[in-house]
Amino acid sequence: MKFQSRSQIEALTKFNSQGDLVTSFFLDTDKGRLNRKEIQLALKNLLSGAKAQVEALDASRERIESLERDLALIGDHGAKMLAGGSGDGLAVFSCSRRNFWQALELPHGPRNRVIIDSTFYVRPLDAILDKYSPICVLLLSRREARWYHVSMSEIEALDEIKSDVPPRVREGGFEGNESKKIERHLDSRLQDHFKKTAQKTVDLGKKHPFEWLFINYEDNHGADFEGHLHSYLREKIKARLHAHVSTPPAKVLQEVLEIEARLKKAEEEETVHKLVAELERGGLAASGLRDTVHRLNQFEVQSLVVSHNFSKPGRICPTHKILYLDELQCPICDKKTDIVQDIVDEAIETVLKRNGTVKHITPPSKLDHYGQIGAFLKYKA
Ligand SMILES: [Zn+2]
Repeated sequence: MKFQSRSQIEALTKFNSQGDLVTSFFLDTDKGRLNRKEIQLALKNLLSGAKAQVEALDASRERIESLERDLALIGDHGAKMLAGGSGDGLAVFSCSRRNFWQALELPHGPRNRVIIDSTFYVRPLDAILDKYSPICVLLLSRREARWYHVSMSEIEALDEIKSDVPPRVREGGFEGNESKKIERHLDSRLQDHFKKTAQKTVDLGKKHPFEWLFINYEDNHGADFEGHLHSYLREKIKARLHAHVSTPPAKVLQEVLEIEARLKKAEEEETVHKLVAELERGGLAASGLRDTVHRLNQFEVQSLVVSHNFSKPGRICPTHKILYLDELQCPICDKKTDIVQDIVDEAIETVLKRNGTVKHITPPSKLDHYGQIGAFLKYKA
């Protein structure tokens, strides 16, 4: 299955292993950078490393066997994918004892890793998703309109219409009243065409939701057309394209991806800028791992801002699920805390489970000066 939406992440974070251990597996299969032999070798090394890790675990026989079965299944699946799969990355989430299996093709090569834990490791998925916004492309001329949906670097033709708008009247072709009448007639046909196009954009958006709308209008009809668009759609217009109705889809995609990357970069800079401004005026924001985790424990975090791949080991109270950087004993219940491999990942999962958002920032950025992590807060307790 292709990795395409936030709902796939939600399904993974909500999976309840009922105390069993689960396997999360990530493999970079980008054939543009790696040859098949290299990928095969990476797969083999990952699995043998994970097997050694499983053997050393202090867990019940059933749990160990479940993990061993996970790894065997992942090995088979990985070999099959190598033979015929597409996608630049592979992710597998497995809990054999609970009959759970989810394999996802990724549009981006992730860092190779196998994580064995009581919950699935979804952070790489969230980071990939954050790189993209679903986009509707509308290419419009006086007589035609064509729609594409671009999601995670893939383009899909949605629909097209051809309207019966006569060609523009040649200048000087008509005189006086007759000319005005024809122009009015043309104009109403053109407005109908725009109206139909605007309505169709709304309808298509219901079936193929998008965050951004990229448009090209031929003949400078932008203002005319936008007059027919609902204001919520006008607000989604993020770019004017050079591509036009007859541009081949591959070229449309190329232009869209270039603009998307630029917009995403600007969006990241804007997020960090806002965070810093909020911090500096002592507003609803936190920065640095210690304070951010503390705020998260207090249920104050609305949105987490984290430098891509920033990672630190930490500890968690097994009862309260409260995160600590270094407390060996939970100060609330006095229980011994457990080690977590990546406290940043735990923080991300916690925020996602509480329906908060996570913004991943590509380093280097100004966030580096604030401990590579911060948060916008709902309130301060
Ligand atoms: Zn506790």
